Amino acid sequence: MGPAAWVEANKWEHLGIMGESMDETAGIESIPDLMLTPMECAAVSASAGVFSFRVPAHYAGLICWDDASDPLRIQVVPDIREAMIRSDESPDPLGEGGSMPVPGLVHRYPGRVLWLVASDCPIHCRFCFRRSRMVDPAARLKASMGNGGTTGSQIPVNGNNPDSDIYRILDYIARHPEIHEVILSGGEPLWVPQIQIHEIIDRLNNIPHVHFIRVHTRLPVAAPHILDGIPETHWKTSTIVRFVIHINHARELSPACRAVIRRLVDGGFPVLTQSVLLARVNDSVQTLCRLFTDISSLGAHPYYLHQLDPAPGTAHFRVADTRACALVAAVAREVPGYMVPRLVRDIPGRAAKVPLHFSP
Ligand code: SF4
Repeated sequence: MGPAAWVEANKWEHLGIMGESMDETAGIESIPDLMLTPMECAAVSASAGVFSFRVPAHYAGLICWDDASDPLRIQVVPDIREAMIRSDESPDPLGEGGSMPVPGLVHRYPGRVLWLVASDCPIHCRFCFRRSRMVDPAARLKASMGNGGTTGSQIPVNGNNPDSDIYRILDYIARHPEIHEVILSGGEPLWVPQIQIHEIIDRLNNIPHVHFIRVHTRLPVAAPHILDGIPETHWKTSTIVRFVIHINHARELSPACRAVIRRLVDGGFPVLTQSVLLARVNDSVQTLCRLFTDISSLGAHPYYLHQLDPAPGTAHFRVADTRACALVAAVAREVPGYMVPRLVRDIPGRAAKVPLHFSP
């Protein structure tokens, strides 16, 4: 499949991602020949309407498209094995649905809540454990384009009645003084209109017992230019705002991504990173050392290395626990301790992430 055919086949995806307000339209001609294999083309078709193939121009430009085993390509190009659902996989592998006192708010851990601010992402990572939440995004984008044009930023926040949900969520947080931290996640929380995210920040700022806000984002990796116009002053509040950026491979640290991280660090924000351990993507000592060293060189701190959550059709990305522990032990022998993230697994029902132990 050549670039023109691919762009046509994914027209809605591209329009959705590269709408005018995103300032990403310039990248569309520079998308290289994607050279998808016949198997990948079949997987792309199979993924449509389920968890469709979506990659922003920026990220597409980082991929070596003539290499079928490129670790960035593997993260975004659908694989036919996604159709193989194992018995231990679940559309809600962390059991978040059972811990939502209000739609869009997960209260699993004491002291903190996870606010699913956005219901979609500009990039669709094939291993995403929330992939089942993003029901038929292509159809939704098509529908919204039919309403006069839109971008992903206009996808309703928290469903069809965003205002009521936002205020119900804020009310819940305000009525629970034990909640000291609010984690903004999604989907991609920074892919909603700035005005909405700033309203959320402002209102959280007015709840006295909320001392910390955490923003879980992959936007600096997927489409960093979208963040160019966001002044850091918006994030300067009496509540401490820290960013946790999802980065899985050193090649995702493009110059533009590095510039975003530097800006945040120079702006005085705590910047942490989280990575997912993925077979064929980053499951080697050398790759992990390079990733954590490069992150640290930017003044950010590698925080978590996650064992993969068992979302449907993701088994081909799994790394066994024993191997994961051996890898991190080897990394710990190569780099200073502060560069070694915590290797963890999320288990439903536990009060915190479970660390996997290793001996360096
Ligand atoms: S950016 Fe995060 S939430 Fe979005 S698809 Fe990737 S892993 Fe899932």
